[in-house]
Amino acid sequence: MKRLIIDCHTHFSTFDHEGQTFEQIRNSLLLSMQKLDIDYAFVYPDSEPSTVVTDLDTTRELVKGFPQLLMLGTACFPMTDKSINDKLDTLALSGDIIGIKLYPGFEEFYPSDGCCHSIYEICIKHNIPVVFHSGETMNEPWRESFNHPSEITNVARHFPSLKIVVAHFSQPHLTACQNLILNYPNVYADISGLVHMDVVKSCGQEVIYRCLSDVATVQPDKLLFGTDWPICDVAEHLGLVESLPVSEATKVLILSGNAQRVFTLEL
Ligand SMILES: [Zn+2]
Repeated sequence: MKRLIIDCHTHFSTFDHEGQTFEQIRNSLLLSMQKLDIDYAFVYPDSEPSTVVTDLDTTRELVKGFPQLLMLGTACFPMTDKSINDKLDTLALSGDIIGIKLYPGFEEFYPSDGCCHSIYEICIKHNIPVVFHSGETMNEPWRESFNHPSEITNVARHFPSLKIVVAHFSQPHLTACQNLILNYPNVYADISGLVHMDVVKSCGQEVIYRCLSDVATVQPDKLLFGTDWPICDVAEHLGLVESLPVSEATKVLILSGNAQRVFTLEL
């Protein structure tokens, strides 16, 4: 039987698509999904205006008319324009966004900073998750202090009803991320980026495999399939899930079941 597959982490980005319009890049994503039997993809906008990744409004335009593409909202810190709160609230209410992605590390704020609390309230109100970029950031390790799992722990503790997704399994801080998601029932992690050559080199293939296997065995409801397309290869990420020493039922949870539950999707 065909499994439902949801890629929880993609971007409309010019990476590997230099010279193409964002429409062409969106079409490349759709084509790649069709080829690999991916049913849905979550698209993450950039929090700041950028020429290499689409922002919130451009992403909205591009996913319109494509029910297989779902998007998240985002906000930039420090938040200069408070009207973003109302905008995200409205978009969450209408179902136009299914979560909110924040980029600590890319921006210099900590997830536990008071300035983020209004975003968490919106997520709790609409029962949607907040997704944190976590771990490696622009090859500048000092930035990782902003998004380290220990920082996310503070949010998990103070907002027990907030669903939190840690992007990239916080690589290279895999063990810290593993402890975080196993200790807090409201925290999940996506596996995006973990097959990337540089990540495999810095974390070690064995360590990645062991971490994911341990979590999938002990708490199979905690891992989400994601790829970080177009930076990373989708087929290789599927291969990583396939390689885990877990039951078919657990693989189905990782590939789509967990995402459906965490992002409250009725597909
Ligand atoms: Zn990403």
